[in-house]
Amino acid sequence: MGVGIVVAIDGPSGSGKSSVSRAVAHELGLAYLDTGAMYRAATVWCLQRGEDLTDQHAVAHAVRVMPLVMGLDPAEPGVEVEGRDVTDAIRTTEVTAAVSAVATNLEVRAELRRRQRAVVEAESGPGATFSGGRGVVAEGRDITTVVAPDADARILLTASEEARLRRRSLEVHGAADEKAVEATKDQVLRRDRDDATVSQFLVAADGVVTVDSSDLDFDQTVQAVLGVVTQMTGREQAPAPSTLGE
Ligand code: C5P
Repeated sequence: MGVGIVVAIDGPSGSGKSSVSRAVAHELGLAYLDTGAMYRAATVWCLQRGEDLTDQHAVAHAVRVMPLVMGLDPAEPGVEVEGRDVTDAIRTTEVTAAVSAVATNLEVRAELRRRQRAVVEAESGPGATFSGGRGVVAEGRDITTVVAPDADARILLTASEEARLRRRSLEVHGAADEKAVEATKDQVLRRDRDDATVSQFLVAADGVVTVDSSDLDFDQTVQAVLGVVTQMTGREQAPAPSTLGE
């Protein structure tokens, strides 16, 4: 077996990053690492323990002892903390509103980046638990720049502010009328503003290819990303045995 490939994808909220990364990983038979889910799990864990999220050291300590298990299967990427399934709990509005407070804690970032690098290294080598060493797609805000700057393919997935608000609004409220879009602004614009104080994900760094999904539908975006992966790795990727249902 050769050495697996590492695909790093960053982007702002509502860019379609998670669903596109999952589909790309599934298509190529790679593991999938949702690093945003790790910051969300850390937030759930701290809230559960009653930590004051503004107490930097207490939060960092809690995160260092967090027993987190990330599911790497793109068809079913579950998240477990202390043996408890938190896959749904990490997606609540409360957690989405609080996550940036945890993610802007630099000691927390150091700890989670260490764990993220360990997964990326393991999945692209002989220690792989999911991909058999074929590799991994890791997505987040600082993967192309800090966690895996040497990745074989590095992509910034962007979309216009309008497209991002509309998508998130449909996802969260099932509608994209004026009221629903307004209610989504905190989850998209305020969060990106806070997150951008510690990560650079609005402009592509050197060597990172931008894919703008504003005028692309889901399948077109997946195809565009797959095209960049082929181009950057210099090899046609063998398709996985099956593809996602829809
Ligand atoms: O991508 P998602 O919206 O699930 O990310 C949740 C939060 O995790 C982001 O708002 C950001 O605060 C944090 N995050 C981060 N670095 C990453 C991935 C996510 O700071 N690599």
